[in-house]
Amino acid sequence: MKYETKTTISYPTVGPAGKTGTWRDFRPELDESKCSKCLLCWALCPEGAIERLEDNSVLIDYDYCKGCGICANECPKDAITMAREE
Ligand code: SF4
Ligand code: SF4
Repeated sequence: MKYETKTTISYPTVGPAGKTGTWRDFRPELDESKCSKCLLCWALCPEGAIERLEDNSVLIDYDYCKGCGICANECPKDAITMAREE
């Protein structure tokens, strides 16, 4: 599945509680060698915490990722795994 470049998506900003990444117990870790650049994680992250780069690779914004695990559960290539935060 491919998404148009201008697909509507929200972007996280600092709220009254600060950066929401501090709420996280588990951290998504991306193995770029497995990623097919399908952008499913980017489209499904409820926090808008996955950034899409020019070449459709993805970056996780740990300032705002809450560690919900949706990206890891939905990735068709098992390129994202959840690890407990230290
Ligand atoms: S869902 Fe998985 S394969 Fe698709 S862009 Fe995200 S990390 Fe890559
Ligand atoms: S763990 Fe949840 S909040 Fe963090 S990048 Fe994945 S889908 Fe987004």
